[in-house]
Amino acid sequence: MRNPAFCLQCDDGTLLEHLTKDVSITIDDLSVIVPAVEGWHCPVCGEIEFTERESSQRYSEALAALRTTANKNRAESLRAMRKKLGLRQADAGKLFGGGVSAFSDYERGKTQPHKSTVLLLKLLNKHPELLDEVRAA
Ligand SMILES: [Zn+2]
Repeated sequence: MRNPAFCLQCDDGTLLEHLTKDVSITIDDLSVIVPAVEGWHCPVCGEIEFTERESSQRYSEALAALRTTANKNRAESLRAMRKKLGLRQADAGKLFGGGVSAFSDYERGKTQPHKSTVLLLKLLNKHPELLDEVRAA
């Protein structure tokens, strides 16, 4: 165990603490607890410098599984919002940018849409009467 270091993420002199503790990972509305993660933990931002392989591997596997589920949920949500607006994938790609195959890629989880695209789709799903205004812009 080396001497405590400063958190490189915070970059403000926050000291890391060597602990074994349960760590929560959250993506969108999904969360998972990874129990007993050993390493240097930042008390402010949650950054972890792993000190043993087993914790690092369990954390990485939990994160990968959560990302897979979150990406699937995002893709399904995107498809549902697009369909609710009555847009074909190619039309959505032209309207929101990214090209005719963009929504095909998003909905297969191949790539992620920009946050602004998701925000605009969510807004239009709450206010579909604005779609004509967006089309005209
Ligand atoms: Zn930090």
